[in-house]
Amino acid sequence: MLVGLDVGGTKILGVALGENREVIALQRRDTPAQAGDADALVATMAEVVESLRDDIGRTASRSPAVGVGLPGLVDRSGRLQFAPNLAGLRDADLGPRLGAATGAAAVRVDNDATCAMRAEYALGAAVGADHAILVTMGTGIGGGLVLDGRVMRGAWGFAGEVGHMVIDADGIDCVCGRRGCWEQYASGNALGRMGRETAEQGLGASWVALAGGSITDVRGEHVTAAATGGDPAARALVERFADWFAIGLANLVDILDVERCVLGGGLVAAGDTLLEPIRSSFAIRLLAASHRPEVAIVPAQLGDRAGAIGAALLAAEAPAPTPGL
Ligand SMILES: [Zn+2]
Repeated sequence: MLVGLDVGGTKILGVALGENREVIALQRRDTPAQAGDADALVATMAEVVESLRDDIGRTASRSPAVGVGLPGLVDRSGRLQFAPNLAGLRDADLGPRLGAATGAAAVRVDNDATCAMRAEYALGAAVGADHAILVTMGTGIGGGLVLDGRVMRGAWGFAGEVGHMVIDADGIDCVCGRRGCWEQYASGNALGRMGRETAEQGLGASWVALAGGSITDVRGEHVTAAATGGDPAARALVERFADWFAIGLANLVDILDVERCVLGGGLVAAGDTLLEPIRSSFAIRLLAASHRPEVAIVPAQLGDRAGAIGAALLAAEAPAPTPGL
């Protein structure tokens, strides 16, 4: 039995996969408020695993193989080094502790977006693309890389932190402690902030209405919904946001020369309202776009389950070497 957990800043999603790698059970819990306390986090993760085993039947789920995706820097040994979105949890070896708490046969741990990339490449929007990137627009921006048909993890396991690519050295303060990171301009949270700022200048009536009438409740999804509804101010804001997104995406494609970019996160539900402006800006921002094959920019297919499914697939892989760690 394969179990995968996707641990986020607010939610923990767990799945169990069947013989054909289909989801046969699913459990959600809130991430404990004191997520920086590894004991509390492991207890909730173990609860998710136990509930999945109850769903499937204890006999069938004896000694599950468990994979975990974590939002932060996870080294190749599976140790979490740094996670600003988990209340600053750092230097935590959650895998062995989860194994001890659940009797799992093995626990493998990796970065959450790398897990999502693994799932989209095996089962979703990146199938058949041996050079692909996944970029998720959520609280921040996560990234996963497939090059030459392999999920890339880097020398230490830290590859793919695309959200902290600096695109404005004197720009907005970031949670990582630096300034001007891409995710401050092109994540779901960034679009929400832009929506609130624009509304404070008196231009956001349509998306403030969608947010229930309060500017402070505006999120990125309200802006994309207003744009889908045809509001010109919302369309203009989405175009500005899409250009910020395209700047970072073009940097990545300039370096990596991928054939397909898979975009994930809640905002992508807006479909072509968001994707078309991104494609238009990307074609302008990319180096020599008219002298190279078109790069496909497509929505993710596995939704918010991608990270958990990819973590379960990780559990099925042989352990990777751990150079130097
Ligand atoms: Zn940053």
